[in-house]
Amino acid sequence: MHAIGIDIGGTKIAGAVVDELGVIVREERVPTDASSPALIEDAVVGMVQRLQQGPEQIVGVGVAAAGFIDAAQSTVYYAPNINWRHEPFREKLERRLDIPVLIENDANAAGWAEFRFGAGRLVSDMVILTIGTGVGGAIVSNDRLFRGGFGAGAEIGHMRVVPGGLPCGCGAHGCIEQYGSGRALQRMANEFADAGGIGQALADVRARNGGVLSGSDISALIMAGDPGALAALRQLGDWLGQACASLGAILDPQVFVFGGGVAQAGELLLEPIRLAYLENLPARGFHPEPEFTIAELVNDAGVVGAADLARLHAASL
Ligand SMILES: [Zn+2]
Repeated sequence: MHAIGIDIGGTKIAGAVVDELGVIVREERVPTDASSPALIEDAVVGMVQRLQQGPEQIVGVGVAAAGFIDAAQSTVYYAPNINWRHEPFREKLERRLDIPVLIENDANAAGWAEFRFGAGRLVSDMVILTIGTGVGGAIVSNDRLFRGGFGAGAEIGHMRVVPGGLPCGCGAHGCIEQYGSGRALQRMANEFADAGGIGQALADVRARNGGVLSGSDISALIMAGDPGALAALRQLGDWLGQACASLGAILDPQVFVFGGGVAQAGELLLEPIRLAYLENLPARGFHPEPEFTIAELVNDAGVVGAADLARLHAASL
């Protein structure tokens, strides 16, 4: 049994026919035209209809998008990139496509793919943190995606780690996104560059590039073993480890998975996370410790996760 997964991103809409092992059979992508919700709807309908023209039996369609989706996986309350406000997107698509549809938050869909087919496939409880420009994530508890009562749960990036801390794009202060993201790593690397000493190489690269330290400059220095860049990464890992200690006290997952661009640092990132986790864990030493690992699915996780959720949903009807 196959399902179609669609991932509506800020720049492109990706869609694929996916089998029950999470393997993509056929895929396509089109640029996102977010100037009106009707154009998005037409683009998704057209893509599904094209993907349906194959020998596979398609049992459902899962659509992943950024934003708050209701707990029934039907209505988009709010999307940051598209002018959706209480948009009954599932109902509209089902009416036009005549096939079961569900809508899922994009981070949840990608996290679900990692749980089913990646680093979480052997456990029942997993937390994934995606360290990109911001901090995203998803929670799987007792083999189920955790959505919360209103569908807006698992916004891990906006867990407060510093009361009265740095202002966040969400309107609150002190969110982990301000201390554990790619953007936070840039801020920390700049601080080391300003301080001189072990930050000298960071300062030199910054001076050569017109006063800007890009994410790829910092990654290159990390991979070259530069002490300043590594110290910035350790600081980032320390914050993430503290956040994981709080998450662990509540959720008790068997595995914490890290995805996103910054996670390409691998063990260099995981080591300070583990250390900070253990230092900050309540009642340390009295229960088993979780594993900390890097995400295995890099591309198309949103599409694969959305398709799998749609297939499971169709099977439950
Ligand atoms: Zn926030």
